[in-house]
Amino acid sequence: EAKAAGRATFRFFDPHMQVALDASATLEADLRFALQRDELRLYYQPVVGHSGSITGVEALLRWQHPQRGLIPPGDFIPQAEKSGLIVELGQWVLEAACRQLVQWAGSADNAHLSMAVNVSARQFRQPTFVDQVLAVLERTGADPRLLKLELTESMLLTDMDDVIAKMTTLKAHGVGFALDDFGTGYSSLSYLKLLPIDQLKIDRSFVHDMLLTRHASSIVRAIITLAYSMDLAVVAEGVETRDQWEALEAFGCNAFQGFLFGRATPVAELALAVLPGGDTDCTPSSKQLAAMLD
Ligand code: C2E
Ligand code: MG
Ligand code: MG
Ligand code: MG
Repeated sequence: EAKAAGRATFRFFDPHMQVALDASATLEADLRFALQRDELRLYYQPVVGHSGSITGVEALLRWQHPQRGLIPPGDFIPQAEKSGLIVELGQWVLEAACRQLVQWAGSADNAHLSMAVNVSARQFRQPTFVDQVLAVLERTGADPRLLKLELTESMLLTDMDDVIAKMTTLKAHGVGFALDDFGTGYSSLSYLKLLPIDQLKIDRSFVHDMLLTRHASSIVRAIITLAYSMDLAVVAEGVETRDQWEALEAFGCNAFQGFLFGRATPVAELALAVLPGGDTDCTPSSKQLAAMLD
């Protein structure tokens, strides 16, 4: 925007802007050493099934900065994308996530948990991406069928043949794919048929609004219907309230993620039996379901 504005108007130098630029330059420089200094952390957010029981987790990256504390991915992944550092970070994430899977594989209670890993556009576009994923799986011994790679719609638009080839190869090894933030990207529904996707993740903006606006509620329903008619699994993101959960269940959604069930936490703090409100039976009664469907 600054560039566009610069063409037409004269802009005064803003000292606050310079401070912000310096801070971001420092952050970018720091990020180069984050890996060496072992400052990256994986947090895990539970994904729950119909009864509120945990079926898997999503790995979410954090940066434990020595001065600034815990930095969320939104504050450094864009820079990492720009600089290309994301390829290394992404590799680290995959490796750490697969190592966690192997740890769970050793305990009967957790061996079923799946692991969703976010993949960035630049990372996925690497010609070596498939080989890197397969190498990590081999090195760690993680079960590929428990690994789910999350892609976003926008990254699938360029070089469709390459995207399909990569996905097909990984799928042949058992790796699954989810479309993250579904509904927010540039959605041409025709590409859904071409891509070997396993799951749609309803973006949390729709879940947030679904009990507030008819529009959002319709979108949520449409995504769920679309998913099932294409034999895809569907996960609702950003479920924060019991009302949202119940409404989603009434629409036929049976996998959920959100603060209601748990935030992303270090593995040691992950509650592997998730029961919001502490109830044993949290699913809406059939009467409630029938009422909501009217
Ligand atoms: P995402 O993949 O869509 O992940 C979900 C984000 O929503 C997470 O934010 C999560 O903490 C947040 N969230 C979950 N439940 C709720 C809820 O009920 N309410 C609200 N308001 N938010 C909720 P986080 O961890 O800050 O991650 C943001 C984004 O950063 C992720 O969005 C993903 O696109 C990206 N990201 C995270 N980790 C990685 C990574 O390892 N690699 C790449 N390439 N991107 C990552
Ligand atoms: Mg995700
Ligand atoms: Mg998402
Ligand atoms: Mg996202």
